Amino acid sequence: MTVLASGSKGNATIVAAGQTRLLVDAGLSCRELTRRMAMVGEEPASLSAILITHEHLDHVNGLSVLARRFNIPVFFTEATHRAWMRMMRPRKTMTYAAWLDQMEAERKTRAEETARAQAPAHTVVAEMAAAAECGPDERLAPDVDHVGSEAKAAEAEPEETAIKADPAFLPAVEYFAAGKSFSIGEIDVDPFTIPHDAADPCGFVFHARTESIRMAVATDLGYVPPNVKQALKNVDVLLLESNHDLEMLKDGPYPWSVKQRVLSRVGHLSNAACAEFLTNDYDGGAHTIVLGHLSEHNNMPELARITAEQAIAGRMSLLGNRLLLATQESPLDPICL
Ligand SMILES: [Zn+2]
Ligand SMILES: [Zn+2]
Repeated sequence: MTVLASGSKGNATIVAAGQTRLLVDAGLSCRELTRRMAMVGEEPASLSAILITHEHLDHVNGLSVLARRFNIPVFFTEATHRAWMRMMRPRKTMTYAAWLDQMEAERKTRAEETARAQAPAHTVVAEMAAAAECGPDERLAPDVDHVGSEAKAAEAEPEETAIKADPAFLPAVEYFAAGKSFSIGEIDVDPFTIPHDAADPCGFVFHARTESIRMAVATDLGYVPPNVKQALKNVDVLLLESNHDLEMLKDGPYPWSVKQRVLSRVGHLSNAACAEFLTNDYDGGAHTIVLGHLSEHNNMPELARITAEQAIAGRMSLLGNRLLLATQESPLDPICL
C-alpha cells in the first residue's frame, strides 16, 4: 500500500499485489497524482483500475482526466457513479428546444459508446494517443473542465468532440455493491458500507490472493458501526481515519453548521473515536496502522499519534502495530509486506 495523499484536499492510495495495481480514489489533480506516483516509482499507465469510495471532491478531483488520459477503468457503486455524474453535469434551467437538443446529443453519445465498445483494439489505442496531456488546472470545478474541453475540441474530430464535451465520460465503468466481493486481477476486493454523508460511501478490504495479505482503507466515516468492525478484523495494513480532535473542532474556525456535519454520525472519525476502536474492537494483528484524513484546522499530527499510541499501547513492537501518519503534502513510503 502506498498512500499518495490523505486529507480534505485530496485522497489517493495505491494497493498492489503481483501485476495488479489499484488506485483507491483520485482526489488530487491528474498532474499531481502523476507527479506523486513518479516519486514512489509508480506509473499511472500501469494501473489496473481506479476504485472510488464516494463522490466527494477530495476523492474524485482528478478522476475523469486521469482515467481518460491513461484509459483506466473506474469502479463505483451505481449510486456513487450517478451522484458523480450529477456533479460533473450541473443541471441548468433550459428551454424545451435546448432540452430536446440535449436529449439528442445524449442519445448520440450512447450510440457512440456502444459502437466504441464493439470497435477493434486499434481504435482504442488511437484514442489514447490522441488524448490530451493532464490539463494545466483540472482541479477546478467540473464545468471549468467542460469549458476547457469544448475550447480544445474545436479542431478535433466530431467523435472525439462528443467524448470531450461530456465531462462525465469515462473509458470504462464497472459497478460493485457493498457487501459483495469482486476481483480485479490478483486482488480480491470486499467493499463495505461506511456511515458518511455521500450517496453510497464504501470502505475496502483488499486481499492479495496468492500472499494471504489483507489491507483495508476506512476513512470518511462518522463512527465505526458493527459491519466496519467486522470488516476490519484480520487485516495486515489498516488505513484508518483520525480526522479531528474534538476540542480543537469545537473551538476551531469552522461555522457551527460545518462543525455539526463533521461531528455527526455521517461525518468524520475523531481521534477519540479512532482510539476507541483501537482499544475495544481492533484485534491487534496488523503489521502497520496508518492514520489518515487528518484535518488541517482541527487536528495536530502529534495529537492524533499520541491518542492512537495510547490506544494500542503495549501491543506495539518491531513486528506489529507500527503506527504511521498519512499526510496531505507528500506520499508515504510504500508499505510492503
Ligand atoms: Zn474525504
Ligand atoms: Zn467524504
